Amino acid sequence: MQAVRLHATGDLRTEEVPVPVPGPGEVLVRVEAAGICGTDRHLYKGEFPSAPPVTLGHEFCGIVVGRGAGVDIPEGTRVACDPNDWCGTCDACLRGRVNLCARNVATGIHRDGGFAEFATFPARKAAPLPADLDPLHGAFCEPLACTLHGVDLGAPVSGERVLVIGGGVIGLLAVQLAALAGAEVMLLTRHPAKRALASQVGAAVTAATPGEVLRLWPQGADLTLECAGVAETVAEAPRLTRSGGRVVVLGVLPKGERVPIEPFDLLFREVQLRFAFINPFTQARAAALISTGRVKVAPLISRTIPLSEAAAAIAAPPGPGEVKVLVLPG
Ligand SMILES: [Zn+2]
Ligand SMILES: [Zn+2]
Repeated sequence: MQAVRLHATGDLRTEEVPVPVPGPGEVLVRVEAAGICGTDRHLYKGEFPSAPPVTLGHEFCGIVVGRGAGVDIPEGTRVACDPNDWCGTCDACLRGRVNLCARNVATGIHRDGGFAEFATFPARKAAPLPADLDPLHGAFCEPLACTLHGVDLGAPVSGERVLVIGGGVIGLLAVQLAALAGAEVMLLTRHPAKRALASQVGAAVTAATPGEVLRLWPQGADLTLECAGVAETVAEAPRLTRSGGRVVVLGVLPKGERVPIEPFDLLFREVQLRFAFINPFTQARAAALISTGRVKVAPLISRTIPLSEAAAAIAAPPGPGEVKVLVLPG
């Protein structure tokens, strides 16, 4: 089968590899759709630790076509992969903080992932999806699960004002989750097409610049969700948040990058600054929100490409206004 494999920083190849064999407790899936994520670009550029040589692709769904010993998910079931497999025995896991597991093994980062015709992963990490779901939608379970964790940490309640910074897939999912919680939501992004998308999926208002945010909401937001992963917007986020408010950073900045923060301002106005990492216990909720259509993912699909074009798409920066590119290996 064909697979898109990272061999070293800047060395991504589409090559022929054997179809993997599921080990005990693992499923073999025929991959239906796999999303290209900003993390894939960080991995390609060596800005995020991985274990090459490895097949990339951590946001995917597919049909179970093979099972190792002890797996009871029937063949033919559509499942979404939760890529993060925590150990259950380290200090973080024993305190219930499984997303901080010191021995986390991530499919598509540390073990072979979904930019391939077939993939294996632990069956306990397979979230069943309805047979009649559009297979393209199942690929959004992982990014939605990560977004759920970030929004959970921010804990918006009805009537609050939530500012989402960044109009990528995480930002546009965060807009929807905050709106579902009953908040009044603003999206800040300089891309007009992404502002239009945000209005379509639940943002009450949009802004192109931080100045525009404060003209619309002079007190700032109760909760600001940084989903751009950009140093400037991380630094800007507290200034766009009201006194006593919260900031949650979901965006991934390159390892080693630094951001100026003014502790006096955070202290004097008691603004909380938190960070949300991956998807602890949120995968089943993500699958439910997508299965029931309560979170809309169809508008977030910018284009679909065959596996043969995936490596070039990961190596290139995202196109202007592009939200999610899905790789269809079949
Ligand atoms: Zn991702
Ligand atoms: Zn652990």
